[in-house]
Amino acid sequence: MTPDPIVPAELLAIMQCPACGGGLEERREPPTLVCVACGLRYPVEDGIPNMLVDEALPPDDEDPR
Ligand SMILES: [Zn+2]
Repeated sequence: MTPDPIVPAELLAIMQCPACGGGLEERREPPTLVCVACGLRYPVEDGIPNMLVDEALPPDDEDPR
């Protein structure tokens, strides 16, 4: 199995966290873009990253259990 990237690498490379301007990396479960600087998580819905700070998930409980 080769998972498709959630966001094309060239797009991810130019995207920034709207809250702090930090870089983003993708998570697959669930599909989110995570800011490497402040840890906010942006949900990806149908392949479209939702980059609204108001709807971003806080950095804690990354692995809820
Ligand atoms: Zn950030």
